[in-house]
Amino acid sequence: MHEMSLCEAIVQTLEEQASTHAYTKVKRVRLSVGPLSCVEPEALKFSFDACTRGTLADGASLEILQAEGSAWCFGCSETFPITGHGQPCPRCGSHLVHVTSGDEFKIKDMEVV
Ligand SMILES: [Zn+2]
Repeated sequence: MHEMSLCEAIVQTLEEQASTHAYTKVKRVRLSVGPLSCVEPEALKFSFDACTRGTLADGASLEILQAEGSAWCFGCSETFPITGHGQPCPRCGSHLVHVTSGDEFKIKDMEVV
């Protein structure tokens, strides 16, 4: 399961950051997730609860912020926001577009004690 390994990576990051930033407990984590990252929010929350059990983020709440993706059109050079794969250019209708962002998956910020 894709989400499980993502959550393991998050927990690892939280634990690494804990020694650098001197916190002992994570109360809330906000993630920025792009529309092309193929992450299921429900599966992610479920995995997060499972992965954080017994760690410094045990019981932390997870918020998923939908990041915006963008693409660039080869036909008319328009840059436009996207919410998924295979979207045509809104200006000229071309499908010859280059996706420039949208697969991000990162910790935006967190609340710690
Ligand atoms: Zn276009």
